[in-house]
Amino acid sequence: MKGICILGATGSIGVSTLDVVARHSDKYKVIALTANTNIDVLYEQCLAHNPEYVVVVDEAKAELFKNKIVGSAVSGVKVLSGAKALETVSTLENVDSVMAAIVGAAGLLSSLAAAKAGKTVLLANKESLVMSGDIFMQAVRDSGAKLLPIDSEHNAIFQCMPAGYVAGNDVKEARRILLTASGGPFRETPVEELHDVTVAQAVAHPKWEMGRKISVDSATMMNKGLELIEACLLFNMSPDDIQVVIHKQSIIHSMVDYVDGTVLAQMGNPDMRVPIAHAMAWPDRFESGVEPLNIFDVKQMDFAEPSLERFPCLRLAYEAIKAGGIMPTVLNASNEIAVDEFLNENIKFTDIPVIIEKCMAQFSAEIADTLDIILKADNDARVLSYKIIKEMS
Ligand code: NAD
Ligand code: MG
Repeated sequence: MKGICILGATGSIGVSTLDVVARHSDKYKVIALTANTNIDVLYEQCLAHNPEYVVVVDEAKAELFKNKIVGSAVSGVKVLSGAKALETVSTLENVDSVMAAIVGAAGLLSSLAAAKAGKTVLLANKESLVMSGDIFMQAVRDSGAKLLPIDSEHNAIFQCMPAGYVAGNDVKEARRILLTASGGPFRETPVEELHDVTVAQAVAHPKWEMGRKISVDSATMMNKGLELIEACLLFNMSPDDIQVVIHKQSIIHSMVDYVDGTVLAQMGNPDMRVPIAHAMAWPDRFESGVEPLNIFDVKQMDFAEPSLERFPCLRLAYEAIKAGGIMPTVLNASNEIAVDEFLNENIKFTDIPVIIEKCMAQFSAEIADTLDIILKADNDARVLSYKIIKEMS
C-alpha cells in the first residue's frame, strides 16, 4: 500500500488522478489533498477519499473549509493553509508518491521539496522543472527520488526508452526525440485572424480537456515550448535533437528515433488517465479506466512541421533553452503573466509572444545554480512583464 499526496487535487490532473486512485484502493491510500481556493470540490474529494490532511492555500477559504467540515463525515481531517503547507504535506513520512499537479510557478517549491525528500515524484507541473532545471534534476539524483513524467508526451517518451531507464540519464542510442503536438485550436486559422481570437476560442482545445492556463499555452504552442525544455532535462537531450511534430489526431503521444533506424511510438486515446496510471503502476501496469483504442477508428495519421511564424512562442522557447541559465525561468514567468492578462481580457492573444520576447531581451543568460537566483529571475521577469504590458496599452 502506497501513500499518495496530490498537489493541485481540484484541477484537471488532480481529478483524473483521483479517478485512477479510486480504481486501485488496494494499492493507494490518499494521505493529502491540496487546493488553492476550490473548497467545494475539495470537500467532495474528502468525502470520497478520506485523506489525513488537506491544504487550502488561501487562508480565508481554509477557515470556510474548517467550518464546512464541522459535524461531517470528514470532520477529523487536518486542515492546513498557506503556501508553506504544500511543502509540509509533500514531505510527510507516510507519503510515498507525490502527484505534482499545481499549475505554474506556484508548484515549484512543493515539487522540489518532494524531489529533495526522495519521494516518487509524478510530475505534471512542467513549469517547476522548466524554472529550476538542473537544480531539480540534481535534487532527484541526490535524494534517490524517482521521477516519472505525467505530461503525456514525456510519459510516452519514457515508455519508449530502454527498460530500467532512469529520468535524466543519457541514452546514446536514442538519436532524436519526436515530440508530438496537436497544434491546438488555431492550427489552421489564418495568421492575420489570430489577432482577434477570444478567450473562449483559445481555451477550447480540440483534443484535450485541461485547465485554462495550459489550454492557452496549447493555443500559442508555448505548451510545446515548455515541453521541449522539459524533454531536454528529463531525457538529457540537446534541443537540436528534439523535433516538434504536429500530429492533429493525438493518437501517437511522442516517439524516440534510435540509431538503428527504429522509431518507437506510444499510442493511445488522448486521456490523461493513461500516463497517470502508467506512472502510478510503474514498473507494473494497471487499469486506467480509459477505453481501449479502436485502431479501426484511426483512419489517418498526419505529421507536419510547425511554423515558427504562426507559433512564435515555440521559437522563443528554443531560444530560451539554447541561451540556458535563467532564460527558461524568464520565459516561463513572462508567459504566466501574459497568459493571465489574456485570460483577464487585458491584452490580445497575439500580444503574448510580443511581451515575452521584450521581457527576455532585458535579461542575460545568467547561470542559474541556486534557487535564490531562480526565484529572483522569476520575480524580476514578472515585474518587467507588467511594465511592458502597461507601456503597450
Ligand atoms: P488546473 O488549472 O485544472 O488545476 C490547477 C490546480 O492547481 C488546482 O488544484 C488549483 O487549486 C491549484 N493551484 C492553482 N494555483 C495555485 C496556487 N497559487 N497555489 C497552490 N495551488 C494552486 O490545471 P491542470 O490542467 O490540472 O494542470 C496542472 C499542471 O499539469 C500544469 O502544470 C499543466 O501544465 C500540467 N499538465 C496538465 C495536463 C492536462 O491535461 N490538464 C496535461 C499535461 C500537463
Ligand atoms: Mg503535454
